[in-house]
Amino acid sequence: MSSAPHALIAGAGIGGLSAALCLAQAGFSVSVFEQADALEEVGAGLQISPNASAILRQLGALERLRPSSLAPRAVKIRRARDGALIAVLPLADAESRWGAPYLLAHRADLQRALLETALTHDAITICAGAAVAGFASGRDGVAIAYKRGAIRLEATGDCLIGADGLRSFVRQRLVGSDGPQSKFSGRTAWRALVDANRLPAEMRRPESALWLGSKAHLVHYPLRGGAVVNVVAIVDEDFRGPSGDFWSSQGDAAYLEARFARWHESAKGLLAAASEWRKWPLYDSAPLARWTGGRVALLGDAAHPMLPFLAQGAAQAIEDAAALGRALAGGHEIEQGLAAYQTARRARATRVQQESRRQGTIYHLSGAAGFARDLALRALGAERLRDRYDWLYDARPRGEASAL
Ligand SMILES: Cc1cc2nc3c(=O)[nH]c(=O)nc-3n(C[C@H](O)[C@H](O)[C@H](O)COP(=O)(O)OP(=O)(O)OC[C@H]3O[C@@H](n4cnc5c(N)ncnc54)[C@H](O)[C@@H]3O)c2cc1C
Repeated sequence: MSSAPHALIAGAGIGGLSAALCLAQAGFSVSVFEQADALEEVGAGLQISPNASAILRQLGALERLRPSSLAPRAVKIRRARDGALIAVLPLADAESRWGAPYLLAHRADLQRALLETALTHDAITICAGAAVAGFASGRDGVAIAYKRGAIRLEATGDCLIGADGLRSFVRQRLVGSDGPQSKFSGRTAWRALVDANRLPAEMRRPESALWLGSKAHLVHYPLRGGAVVNVVAIVDEDFRGPSGDFWSSQGDAAYLEARFARWHESAKGLLAAASEWRKWPLYDSAPLARWTGGRVALLGDAAHPMLPFLAQGAAQAIEDAAALGRALAGGHEIEQGLAAYQTARRARATRVQQESRRQGTIYHLSGAAGFARDLALRALGAERLRDRYDWLYDARPRGEASAL
């Protein structure tokens, strides 16, 4: 009897853990190598759209996430200057319309739900404190080198999945300097978690709010059963923060106060209630021509870093994982399976990358163009606005290009 094929995964983020679960379901034994020693509370809120939550449900992770997540009734789009309601995207019937719930959750809660689910699988081993530092793909398998502190170790398997994020080591080695490089987009995201008790009732409602201003926008929604409100302010600016760990760069509240001085009082009140800001430069990249090479494939941000304006980075990583599991199930030859994975995913992920960039341009229009945008959004109305998200959110099976 032949033993199960063995997958090596670099990175235990949302993409790496989802891939581990999908590959275990496809009959693989899986070793996940994560450079961090332990799961950390990094990031903040994530919007988990139905195209991703359907996959989480199928993996058994959704039920673990549900208690700490929240289903918003709508996204309310407001004008920065006076708070006027421009449009409403209804979400209350997300599950019946798109086949799975639309949820708001803390990134760490999603990562924990995936990790706990992975730990119930005998086929999955998580190696924390192990940074992948080299690999070689051959005809019969793949070998990796990884570092535990100063010690260098090796492991072998049938394939390597680079789910090691925006600054992917695996991508650098696979594509080299020939491929498109991630570039600073000229925008930074300022993120804070605000104690809900410090905010008025309208900010605590189970809905997401999107405020559109000149060269800036603001998103907020409650998290963790409504105990905190996740705030993201995105502004056009040069980034002069430290170049090291971009998750934990501190933001100066006075800068934000000045930048939003002409915004409506309730938006300013929300910004003022934050006790600490984290500042996060946003990177963008042209689509990679290929995500695979031999027995190695990229997944998630490593394959398709995207701007967050459609809130799809994690969702697309989860979709990648499902497609990877399908492509490698049933004992297909590994290199062919990885090529089939790229074929199944590249066009859709590229479209989401491009639409995210376009959305950012629309959000930050100013003057007459911003006025025209608001008029167009108003004229569209709730139903037609919602129709525009069908291609992205619909989780019901519709061929290989779909989420499921
Ligand atoms: C402001 C903002 C808001 C966002 N909002 C949303 C949203 O609402 N919805 C949504 O779906 N997405 C959102 N995203 C995007 C989302 O956070 C990312 O796209 C997603 O986390 C990518 O997952 P990943 O697993 O590919 O990478 P990551 O989450 O970055 O995980 C990569 C992992 O690999 C590890 N690693 C790195 N190098 C190595 C190595 N050499 N060896 C071993 N391990 C390694 C890292 O430690 C990390 O754990 C947002 C992003 C931003 C910036």
